[in-house]
Amino acid sequence: MGTPTEGPGRDLDTAASSGVPGVPGDTLRRGRPKRASLVARRLEREIIEEGWPIGRVIGTEPELLDRFEVGRGVLREAVRLLEDHQVARMRRGRGGGLVVLEPDVRTVAEAASIYLESLGVSADDVFEARLVLDLFAVALAADRIDEAHAARLRELLEEERRADEHQIVGGSHRQVHAAIAEAGGNPAIAVFAQALSLLADDQDRRYGRLTGPASRQAAAGAHRAHEAIVEAIISGDALLASRRMRKHLTALHQELIHRQDGPRAEPVEATAASGQTGRTLARRIRADVMALGWPVGQNLGSETALLERYGASRSALREAVRILEHHAAVEMRRGPGGGLVVRAPDGEAVTRAAVLHLHYRTITTAALFEARDALEAATLRLATERLDDEGRALLAEALERTRDLRSPQFGPATHDFHVAIARLSGNQTLQLFVAILAEITAERVPGAPPSDRQTASARSARQQVDHAHRRIAEAVFEGDSSLALRRMRLHLRALECSIA
Ligand SMILES: [Zn+2]
Ligand SMILES: [Zn+2]
Repeated sequence: MGTPTEGPGRDLDTAASSGVPGVPGDTLRRGRPKRASLVARRLEREIIEEGWPIGRVIGTEPELLDRFEVGRGVLREAVRLLEDHQVARMRRGRGGGLVVLEPDVRTVAEAASIYLESLGVSADDVFEARLVLDLFAVALAADRIDEAHAARLRELLEEERRADEHQIVGGSHRQVHAAIAEAGGNPAIAVFAQALSLLADDQDRRYGRLTGPASRQAAAGAHRAHEAIVEAIISGDALLASRRMRKHLTALHQELIHRQDGPRAEPVEATAASGQTGRTLARRIRADVMALGWPVGQNLGSETALLERYGASRSALREAVRILEHHAAVEMRRGPGGGLVVRAPDGEAVTRAAVLHLHYRTITTAALFEARDALEAATLRLATERLDDEGRALLAEALERTRDLRSPQFGPATHDFHVAIARLSGNQTLQLFVAILAEITAERVPGAPPSDRQTASARSARQQVDHAHRRIAEAVFEGDSSLALRRMRLHLRALECSIA
C-alpha cells in the first residue's frame, strides 16, 4: 500500500483525542497545552529520536533557555514535567545540565492503577483483564523464554519460598508475575500486566489480608501454583502454562470475592505509622480516598490535620502529596480554606506516560500489533456479547465519522473506531490499554496529504479501511463474534503491513 491508511499521523506536539470520555483528549478540551508542556514534549521527542541515551546531558539551563527562547519559569516547569515523567533530571553544579534518566516501569504501572482506581473499576473487571493479559503473557513466555530468564524465574521462586515462611505475600508475588510477563518479550504486555498486578494487590489489601493459618495456606498455595506455571513455561508447553495460570488467577479471584462478601476485616496498613516513607503514606492516603468512593473536590484536611491523622513526619507527608499530585490524584491548596483536595486523574497523563515508556523500550511495530491483536480480540468478543442499543448507536456513530473519505478527520476517526469497540467491551481497563496502543499506532502512520492532493491510491487505501470497519461492525451487530474476530485480525494485519 505505502499510503497512510489509518491514524492522523500527528506528532508529539499535538494533543491526542480518542473521543472517549476519561481517556485522552482531555488536554484538547481544556484548550492549548501550556508552553512548558510544549517545551517538555519537544525535549521528549528529541530524547526518543536519539534512542533514549541514558545519562547523556542534553543541555545546560542557559543553553536550553536560549534554544527555546522561553523564560526561566517556563523552562523550570518543563523540567519538572520531564522529572515527573522520569524522562530527564536537571543536575546542578559543574558538568551539570539536563540528564536523560532511565524510566521505571513501576511509575507507569502506578499511574495506570491510580487512574483505574479513580474510575472505580471492580475486582471482576481487573480479573477479566488479567485473564487476557496474563494468559497471553504466559503463552508468549513458553514460546520465547531463554535460559537466562528461566534461571531468573527459578531464582525468584526460591526467594518467594523463603519469603513465604515469613508470610510476606504482596511484593514477591508481584515479582513472579512481572518476571513471567517480561519473559514473554512483549514490552506492552509486560507493562500492562504489571499495572494490573499492582491494581489487584491494592484491591487485595483493601479487603483485608488473611491472617494466621489461612494466610500461610494461601501463600503456600500461590507458591505451588507459581512453580507449576514456571515449569510449564520452561518446558515450552504454552497450553499447560496457560491452563495453570487461569486456574491460579481464578483461585485468587474467588478467594478475594469470598472475603469481599464475608465480614469486613481490618484493612492492612502498609507499614506501622512510625517510620513510614512518603511512598507507603501515599498508598494509605490513596486507599482512604478509594474507601470514600473517590469524591472529586472533597477536602481531606489541612496539612496539620493530615500530619495528626496519619502520625507521619512532615517530610513523609510532603513526599506522599508530591507523588499523588504527580498522578493528579490530589491537589494541595494553600491559604485559608485550603487543604488536600481530591482530583480526578486524567487518562491523558496515563496514556502519555505509557506511550513514553514503550518508546523508551523501543516497542517494534510487530510487538505493537501482537499486543493489539491479543487485546482487541478480547474487547471485540466482549463487545459482541454485551452489545445493547446504546452500543449499537455508538458504533454506528463511529462508522459515520469515516463516511467522508476526503475529510481531514478521517485519520483520527479510524483510531476512534477501535477505542469505541473497546469501550463497548464494558471493561475500562482493557479500554485504557487499547487506547494506549492505538495512540502509538497513530504516531507511526505518516501524515495524510491534504484532501485536494489525495492520490487515487490514498483514497482507495482509505476506502479499504472504511470497508473493513463496516464489515467488522456488521458482524458485531449480528452477534457473530467469530466472524468479527476474523475480520478484525485481517484488518490489523493489513494495517501493520501499511506501517512496516
Ligand atoms: Zn500469582
Ligand atoms: Zn481500523
